[in-house]
Amino acid sequence: LKDFLYLQKLKNLYISKLNISIVIPAFNEAENLPVLLEKLTEVMTPYPSYELLFVDDGSKDGTYPMLKHLASQNLHVRFLSFSRNFGHQMALRAGLEHAKGDCVISMDADMQHPPELLPELIARWQEGYDIVYTVREPDPTLGFVKKVTSKGFYRLLRYMADIDLDEGAADFRLLDRKVVDYLKQFKEADLFLRGIISWIGFKQFAINYKPAERFAGKTKYSMKKMLLLASAGITSFSTKPLYLSVLLGFFMLLFSIGFALVSFYDYLMGNVVTGWTSTVIFISLIGGIQLVMMGIIGIYLAKMFYEVKGRPTYILQDFKE
Ligand code: UDP
Ligand code: MG
Repeated sequence: LKDFLYLQKLKNLYISKLNISIVIPAFNEAENLPVLLEKLTEVMTPYPSYELLFVDDGSKDGTYPMLKHLASQNLHVRFLSFSRNFGHQMALRAGLEHAKGDCVISMDADMQHPPELLPELIARWQEGYDIVYTVREPDPTLGFVKKVTSKGFYRLLRYMADIDLDEGAADFRLLDRKVVDYLKQFKEADLFLRGIISWIGFKQFAINYKPAERFAGKTKYSMKKMLLLASAGITSFSTKPLYLSVLLGFFMLLFSIGFALVSFYDYLMGNVVTGWTSTVIFISLIGGIQLVMMGIIGIYLAKMFYEVKGRPTYILQDFKE
């Protein structure tokens, strides 16, 4: 018992000294974890007190047992494990909520966010910046589809959501404790961290970096997940899409006034039976626009539905403190 208490005391002393947290969401990344851990251990040697908080986002490939194993071997390793896949943003949120450091760094598990950059992030933080974010330089080896979708995403977001996001700003950044404490107060079900970071203010610093290639496995961001993220980004920050309906309605009104005048003229000239084609086009056009607009209103309504329910946004099946 004495030994146990002594160990406990040591552990508490150890924890009370923690000051850097690194949060790493991982969805089916078992092969990448040992490599990442080795690299991080190397880079973090000069900083005696840090924690590596892995968040297993409902992986099916042995990420969870791997984390359990690593945590039993390495005192710096902690983990959270979700009961199912809740998505990257939720994994980040869980990590921020459970991190204990005076600053929290978030990075991907696939080695695309170079660990060598950490000392620079930390140095800027020590200089007094509250948020140190990174901007990925255009990567010539990036696939065409990814390049176009990513570019389009940031453009659309800037236009629609009125938030000025650097193109290529990913979830690789350092946050001071006080920023993290504010972020914990954001209870919205549909969290879009990149937008919130840009919105939240504080002293920010940007670092450019060249992304590395994914070490093992394929991207875990399917097309569906990217579209969901884009939709969450826009609808969390903007009501502009709703105004689209008013704008289109206005144009339709102008158009129909013109159409009415033409029809009346036709009537006066005596050619009344023609016009089947134009009628059909007109009806389907209005029908299409109405459906799109109802869809947009539906998206916002669904968002409210989720917010009103106020469910927990992720469920843990295991964790290691
Ligand atoms: N990720 C996650 N949950 C998901 C999808 C991805 O936790 O549902 C993690 C993934 O393991 C990685 C990070 O988010 O650590 C970024 O994903 P990925 O590298 O696949 O995206 P990409 O770099 O291709 O945009
Ligand atoms: Mg990646």
